[in-house]
Amino acid sequence: MTMDKRLGQRFLPYGANYLDWSDMSELRAAVEQKVLFRYQTESESMASRLERRVAEEFGVSHVLAVHNCTEALRLALISTRPRTGDVVYIPAVTFVAVAGAVLSTGLIPVPVDVDDSFALDASLLPSDAQRVIVAHMEGAVAPLPAGVPYVIEDAAQALGASFPDGRPVGTAGYAGAFSFHHNKVLTSGEGGLLVTGDRAVWEVMRCYHDHGSARQPGHYPTWNDDAYYGENFVTSEEVAAIQLQQFRHLGRIVDGLARHYRIAVAELPQRPDITLLPRSAGDVKTSLRLRMESPELRDAAVTLLTRRGIANWTLNKYLLPEHPVLQGRRSLYADGFPWNLAEGIPRALSRDGFARTRSLLDRTLCVPLSPELSESEQVLAAKALRQTLEEL
Ligand SMILES: *Cc1c(COP(=O)(O)O)cnc(C)c1O
Repeated sequence: MTMDKRLGQRFLPYGANYLDWSDMSELRAAVEQKVLFRYQTESESMASRLERRVAEEFGVSHVLAVHNCTEALRLALISTRPRTGDVVYIPAVTFVAVAGAVLSTGLIPVPVDVDDSFALDASLLPSDAQRVIVAHMEGAVAPLPAGVPYVIEDAAQALGASFPDGRPVGTAGYAGAFSFHHNKVLTSGEGGLLVTGDRAVWEVMRCYHDHGSARQPGHYPTWNDDAYYGENFVTSEEVAAIQLQQFRHLGRIVDGLARHYRIAVAELPQRPDITLLPRSAGDVKTSLRLRMESPELRDAAVTLLTRRGIANWTLNKYLLPEHPVLQGRRSLYADGFPWNLAEGIPRALSRDGFARTRSLLDRTLCVPLSPELSESEQVLAAKALRQTLEEL
């Protein structure tokens, strides 16, 4: 028996399921206005509307829309006014974009080992740590380290999640970064948001993201005598318009993920050799994470699920200390920048050289949750998963 394509394979992730011409009033308005540059009009731009909406929804004072989450992470780091070669502690298990954002800013990423839930283990951080990026992977909320001046939340995979105290993820540290890449909770193809509670920090971010200027909408940029150089990370009106449309569906996606999780948990077989990693109340977990007794059992599950047409993935590719860029300290610069500044900086922080984490990764299997499915379809998907796991 193989699964119905729609139930087994998440052919369109999350927000992409809700792209529909009948629901694109903002995009239509942006096109009809014939202005796709956010600073061309003196009336409120789509990008400003988006930023205002996110500020209200997340209860955060300052928001800046950029092209993607990698840029948002870079901008957050740059706004801390680091020295080139400064260390940024990052989770050992996350997407390589985090390391790329650090390196392309002239800083040195040091991967820090993770706990059983793959969240950065703050007890490994040195007491003088200045900059830490915490990633909320697959919508599982990770705790933030205390006593670190610059904690940047990578919430690329966790839009809509909240901490146990109710604060939305991304709003509890120095700055938070979100992604609207196709595979994330909401999508505009590419897209990013940066949030911070500090007005002065936001002003630095806004200037850097627009060639170093604090542009007045409708005007050519002017430069202060004390301006510093910047880049161009300014978002586009049609992208902001699609993001506004996507936000209308966030609540439904979050609810649909929670419902699918509940249904799947009720259907999981009681096997002592397969355990489900827990889901916290505020998580926007996009997958069921199963931990198997052995790598052999995990690999057998991958084979059988795949044969049945049931989507699944593993997290082994996220182990950054084994990524060639970190392992080989590689760079396109002729002098190896910024790795040439890394002398004396540890390659990673781990008690056991990542042996435990590697073992956890080798035994972990993720099965996507599909919020767009109806309740009865989710029940069918959960039953097919149970049947397959029972046969292992
Ligand atoms: C996707 C992702 C990023 C990068 O986001 P982009 O918008 O594609 O630049 C960064 N961190 C994590 C954890 C991600 O999953």
